[in-house]
Amino acid sequence: MIERNKCIANIKAGYLFPEIARRRREYAAAHPETNSPEGRIISLGVGNTTEPVLPHIDAGLVNGAKALGTVEGYSGYQDEGLLELREKISSVFYKGMFSADEVFISDGAKCDIGRLQLLFGAGTPVAVQDPSYPVYVDGSVLIGAAGGWAGSGYQGISYLPCTAENSYFPDLSKLPANSLFYFCSPNNPTGAVASKEQLSALVKAAREKGCVIIFDGAYAEFIRDPALPKSIFEIDDAGTCAIEVNSFSKPAGFTGVRLGWTIVPKDLKYLNGESINADWARIAGTIFNGASNIAQAGGLAALDAEGLKEVRALTDFYLGNAKLIKSALQKLGVSCVGGDNSPYIWARFLGRTSWDVFAEILEKCQVVTTPGSGFGPAGESFVRFSAFGHRADVEEACGRLSRLKG
Ligand SMILES: *Cc1c(COP(=O)(O)O)cnc(C)c1O
Repeated sequence: MIERNKCIANIKAGYLFPEIARRRREYAAAHPETNSPEGRIISLGVGNTTEPVLPHIDAGLVNGAKALGTVEGYSGYQDEGLLELREKISSVFYKGMFSADEVFISDGAKCDIGRLQLLFGAGTPVAVQDPSYPVYVDGSVLIGAAGGWAGSGYQGISYLPCTAENSYFPDLSKLPANSLFYFCSPNNPTGAVASKEQLSALVKAAREKGCVIIFDGAYAEFIRDPALPKSIFEIDDAGTCAIEVNSFSKPAGFTGVRLGWTIVPKDLKYLNGESINADWARIAGTIFNGASNIAQAGGLAALDAEGLKEVRALTDFYLGNAKLIKSALQKLGVSCVGGDNSPYIWARFLGRTSWDVFAEILEKCQVVTTPGSGFGPAGESFVRFSAFGHRADVEEACGRLSRLKG
């Protein structure tokens, strides 16, 4: 028989969300009152969107599907994406600074994050913010960049702590030379948003150390403070040291539709001077074949004037939820960050473990959160509250949080 890929055995995270689901099920089974409207369990745990796609963007999806049924509107494979969408992404988000062949349409940011490491191979050291979105680590482990935090049985990925003490921005002197550095802002899970000065320091460090930054901007459309950068490419010289992955999932409600994009600038080169952009185009044609044409029609609708208004309205809605959650926590004296320019609130419970706090909130409030320790060792003693939920559920959950008092 055939042996199992050893890298798969090394993956850690498959563990976090199934474990949360298991504990939730167990609690519900032991508490029949969770079947009643007042006792029902409310999840502020996952990062999945809950609100319907808004009408103009939805019409874009419908029209995209209808067009496929006509001779003029039919289209087949589009490996790197529809030209019109690539140009539109460059003009709407990057002031036109990228040509269409630097914009690659994907079936989601996570999928591209999983594929990107094919460019660099198992020998490239990887660094992540700690805590971080699990796929950065797991994608690395899967291709064999031996990784994991101390105690997990394998090492090789550098964890740069982002804690209250450093205002959730890592100490860049700890960034290993010639590494791939995953950086997410607005951050999942902490909700922290890097300032222009911080991103400038990041680009400077990456250039000095020969690193490539993989910048995840999935939550950029939640930024309301005009001083905060929405893209790494707002920083001079980032085109020589960064790739940006992004997504329609959270701003347009496309988590189930599946559409994202990746910017690979032509100025970005390997050590030997060869073009990373050309290799990425090759990977798209070799193992991907492009995103759904229907999803791309929806994406185009999301980026015209009417669609951008809907993106604003949808992200405003979730930010409204975030505000309710944050103020409920602050009323209890819980110290928390995020929630202002991001849909996540990162709440600190000093001296306790994340799982212990998770259990208390589930038992006293019937509210599901995400234990911070699941995102990396520096997440210990935090829990993450997600603002993705129907308003009535969020209001009910916020009311119940007062039971945590004392
Ligand atoms: C939700 C999320 C994404 C989006 O992934 P898709 O595959 O585009 O749905 C990317 N990065 C982070 C940090 C996320 O939380």
